[in-house]
Amino acid sequence: MFEKIALVGIGLIGSSLARVIRREGLAGHIAIATRSLDTLKRAEELGLGSSYSTSAAEAVKGADLVIVSVPVGSSGAVAEEIAPALKPGAILTDVGSTKGSVIAQMKPHVPEGVHFIPGHPLAGTEKSGPDAGFAELFENRWCIFTPLPDTDPDALEKLSQFWRRCGSNIDTMDPDHHDMVLAIVSHLPHIIAYNIVGTADDLQQVTKSEVIKYSASGFRDFTRLAASDPTMWRDVCLHNKDAILEMLARFSEDLASLQRAIRWGDGEKLFDLFTRTRTIRRSIIDAGQEVDAPDFGRQVAAHPEKLAKG
Ligand code: NAP
Repeated sequence: MFEKIALVGIGLIGSSLARVIRREGLAGHIAIATRSLDTLKRAEELGLGSSYSTSAAEAVKGADLVIVSVPVGSSGAVAEEIAPALKPGAILTDVGSTKGSVIAQMKPHVPEGVHFIPGHPLAGTEKSGPDAGFAELFENRWCIFTPLPDTDPDALEKLSQFWRRCGSNIDTMDPDHHDMVLAIVSHLPHIIAYNIVGTADDLQQVTKSEVIKYSASGFRDFTRLAASDPTMWRDVCLHNKDAILEMLARFSEDLASLQRAIRWGDGEKLFDLFTRTRTIRRSIIDAGQEVDAPDFGRQVAAHPEKLAKG
């Protein structure tokens, strides 16, 4: 599909892209750039690309498609660095979990004649780094684009085709809407998980060994989310602040109402809520976004083919 693809950032997402690009033969040349020499060496040992550099500007030279896969707080600095080296007519995209902030950071640096199309694959695990990636990560997952008013439809179609070849389904959205949707489906669950695991860690009356020993009772399902990369999630919180604060306010209100129902013994209210929420999980399984297994995705991360089969 492309003569040269440059991957700036080669962690979980970048290295999964490298693997699927190679498997599907989507590029003649895969140029890899990452900040640290250690990560670069590891990417080379894993044979993820055709060329390797710690200079993002060097890697993007002559590339038809440039995919930036770095923490969202660094996307502006990366755009500034690569801008003078981008080929006219190239497609520049990203995979960042927040869109309004990434657009505000990157867009001012994008030169005339380069097609900037912000994107976000809704696929991931709690692991990070080049070893964590796998070619099937994007299989049957959504990739959301938040095109800008001046986005070229042909470039958008070409990028959509690329992501379809990676296994994804495509959707487009307004950046603000994306940030609101993601605040509830992804950002809030991670914040709740970080919070509950932190609370358990602080408990005095229950020992840490008991928390670990009896974790299958529910706790461990939060620990998977709470094991996610701290840099990535710090940046998500700081760069989707407004939408997250709005969702947190609603969440706190609903939690207070649940707390009141427990205090006043309102069993009917509890039963009604727990019945309503059960159907949400059923819909997720029916939509092929989860397997009907009691391990909440851990097996899926290790064996993504199970997800593809639904
Ligand atoms: P990751 O595994 O931690 O890899 C991050 C990559 O970015 C590494 O190559 C790292 O380089 C580089 N990097 C880190 N800080 C940087 C900086 N300040 N300047 C330039 N490069 C820097 O992260 P990831 O999970 O692939 O996430 C990458 C992006 O994908 C993020 O924007 C995230 O929001 C988005 N995303 C993640 C998921 C997920 O579940 N993980 C899902 C969808 C989208 P070095 O190792 O060389 O320092």
